[in-house]
Amino acid sequence: MIVAMQERATEEQIDAVIDAMVESGVNVHRTTGASQTILAGVGPTTGLDLRKFELLSGVLYVHRITAPYKLAGRAFRPEGTVVEFPNGARIGGEQVAIIAGPCAIENRDQIFTIAACVKAAGGGFLRGGAYKPRSSPYAFQGLGIPGLELMHEAAEANGLLTVSEVMEIAQIEPMLPYVDCFQVGARNMQNFNLLRELGLVRKPVLLKRGMSANIEELLLSSEYILAGGNYDVILCERGIRTYETSTRNTMDIAAIPVVHKLSHLPMVADPSHGTGRRDMVPPMAKAAVAAGADAIMVEIHPNADKAASDAAQTLYLDQFEKLVGELRVIATAVGRTL
Ligand code: PEP
Ligand code: MN
Repeated sequence: MIVAMQERATEEQIDAVIDAMVESGVNVHRTTGASQTILAGVGPTTGLDLRKFELLSGVLYVHRITAPYKLAGRAFRPEGTVVEFPNGARIGGEQVAIIAGPCAIENRDQIFTIAACVKAAGGGFLRGGAYKPRSSPYAFQGLGIPGLELMHEAAEANGLLTVSEVMEIAQIEPMLPYVDCFQVGARNMQNFNLLRELGLVRKPVLLKRGMSANIEELLLSSEYILAGGNYDVILCERGIRTYETSTRNTMDIAAIPVVHKLSHLPMVADPSHGTGRRDMVPPMAKAAVAAGADAIMVEIHPNADKAASDAAQTLYLDQFEKLVGELRVIATAVGRTL
């Protein structure tokens, strides 16, 4: 950490700051310039709340120079993490993965039709919510375990893996036989108890960025899972809330290279929730692959307009097939496969 003192800071103020830093367990290196004193603190600052130094008199600003997350940081695994699934599928390697499926599992016919389409397009992962975090308690809440049974069956029949959202700790155990990857939704990105529990599970977790979360907060949330010993964490950009109203959320494409710079974890892009509009999903999916996304997750449905949830952002199956073809071209252009 770096503490920059104000130009007219007194020796007493500087000494008080040095004492506070030493008390917190950091070694202090003082540089006294012509007009300003800089205190460099070296040591374990990970859990320190730097605001306590900012509030001391005579302090101009305090700056953290090491990341507050350790296991999620790029330095922990400079070569990058590749999450491997039991059937050999991977997220985070050279190949861009495709995760597609309905917002919610609705019935047998729906999920089997979609699974066959995902497979035919070359996708490896079938997504579908059985526990839906809906803004209204009166909206369709998902089929629960019977829905997961259907999705698991449809995935097995087509050699796909399943991804589904877990909303609370009590759902983890019953979901285990049916999901290959747990999804933590935007609304639960800071449900730290759930994250801790998922750290003890030995199945990959796809952690979505909260709609008002910055990238550091996303990485700190992933740290909860990693700290439990579950290193198979996949991050996901799904759009954030801004003042823009043309799209449901603002798809932060820049988050993809930022995460790749700061962390070794794979980064997925979800342009369905990122835009909330069917017509905007393909351009943002293409931008995400160009920006280095390790997987694209999209919502698809044979009757997209009639989907029980998120209909407006759901692609028709033919749109999805066309999109995957285009993504393949872009993946090749940026040195990836699909
Ligand atoms: C979803 O994937 O269907 C979902 C609810 O996503 P999010 O948590 O990003 O809103
Ligand atoms: Mn959805």
